[in-house]
Amino acid sequence: MPSSSPAGTFPAHTPAASQIFTTVLTHGPLTRQEAARRAGLSPAAVTRAVRPLIEAGFLVEDAGAEVRPALGRPANPVRVDGGRALFVGLKATGDEIIGVLTDLCCRIRVARRVPLSGRSPREVLPVAADLVRELLTEAEGFGVRVLGLGIAVAGDVDRAAGAVRRSPFLDWHDVPLAGLAEEATGLPVTVDNDVRALTVAEQWFGDGVGLSDFAVVTVGAGIGCGLVVHGRVVSGAHGVAGEIGHVPVVPDGPPCHCGDRGCLEAVASDAAITARVREVTGVAVADATEALALAREGDARARAVYARAGEAIGRGIAAVANLLGPERVIISGEGLAAYDLFAGQIRDAFTAAAFGSAARCEVRTRPLPFEEWARGAAATAIQTFVGR
Ligand SMILES: [Zn+2]
Repeated sequence: MPSSSPAGTFPAHTPAASQIFTTVLTHGPLTRQEAARRAGLSPAAVTRAVRPLIEAGFLVEDAGAEVRPALGRPANPVRVDGGRALFVGLKATGDEIIGVLTDLCCRIRVARRVPLSGRSPREVLPVAADLVRELLTEAEGFGVRVLGLGIAVAGDVDRAAGAVRRSPFLDWHDVPLAGLAEEATGLPVTVDNDVRALTVAEQWFGDGVGLSDFAVVTVGAGIGCGLVVHGRVVSGAHGVAGEIGHVPVVPDGPPCHCGDRGCLEAVASDAAITARVREVTGVAVADATEALALAREGDARARAVYARAGEAIGRGIAAVANLLGPERVIISGEGLAAYDLFAGQIRDAFTAAAFGSAARCEVRTRPLPFEEWARGAAATAIQTFVGR
C-alpha cells in the first residue's frame, strides 16, 4: 500500500507559516498584505512564510490578477492549490463506514460507503483499512499523494491521545484507534469526535469561516453540539464538551441511554421520536423514515411528537446561546429531513428561552448529506497536516 513519505510533509516549520497557510486556506485568495493583516503578522514575516509554500506547490500566485502598486510590494494574490494533496476521511457508525477522498481544500473527490457486519474494533478495523486501500487506489488516478487520514467517531474521543474513550453507538471503550489505524494504513491518523470534526469543517471550509464564536448542533441518531469559542474548537478539559444531548429538557421525561431521564436526546433523537410515535399512535413504525412518513400523512399524534422534539431542540439551542453568546448556530444532521415538522417550534422555543441579546444569534440550517460526516474527518486530517 502506498504511504506518506518525507516528500509529503508540510514545508512550514514555524507557527507563523502554519497560521498564514491556514488564513489563505480558509479566506483565500489573499494578497500578502491582506494575509498579514488577517493573521496579525508583519508583511516581511508573511513573505518569508509564503516562499517555501510556493516552492513546494502548496500555494500558487494568481499572476493574472497581479496588481503592481506604484510603491511597495507586488499585490498579486496567493491561494492554496487544492489539488496539491489528498486526504481520506472516515466516519464509523454502528452499521457502516463512510469514506471520502478530499483535496487540500476539503472538496470531496470520491465517496464510498461500506456496511459493517460487527461493531468490535477487530471487526471494524479491517473493513476500514480495506476502504482506505480502495480510496488510495482512487487517489493514484489523480496523481497526487494522500497525506493524512481522519477518523470521526461518535462519543467521548481523546484527539490528543488518538483514543476513543467511550462510544455508545459502537460499544467501544478505550480503543487506541489512531495507533491501530496508522499500523493498518501507513498514513498519519487523526481521530476525533464526529460532531467536533464536522465543526472543524464548518470553521475552515463552511458556514463558520470568519466567525470567532459559533456552534454546530446536529440532530439525528444523537443530538450533538460542536462549539467554537474565540476561534478555537472547544474540546473540554476531559475531552467532553457541548453535550447538549444530555441537557435535561423534560423533568421526569423518558429514560436516556446515559442513565438519566428527560435528556434532549431522549426526546428528540431519531430513536426517541420513533419510539414515541409508536407509543402514541399504536402504529408499529420501524424507524425514523416510517415515523416521518406517518407524520407527513397528517397523523396529528405523530405530528405532536415532532412538535415536542422541536420545542426541546429550541430550548437546548437557547441554553447554548445563553451560555456562550455565539454569533450563529448551525443546525445540521440527518434529522433535518423532518425540519418542516418542527422548524416553527425550534424557533419559538429558542426565542422564548434566549436571554436578551443572546436571541440575536442567527439560527441557520444546513442540510447534511451523510458524506459530510466523513468530510469532517478529512478536515481534521488537513488540520493536523498543516500543524494547527
Ligand atoms: Zn442522557
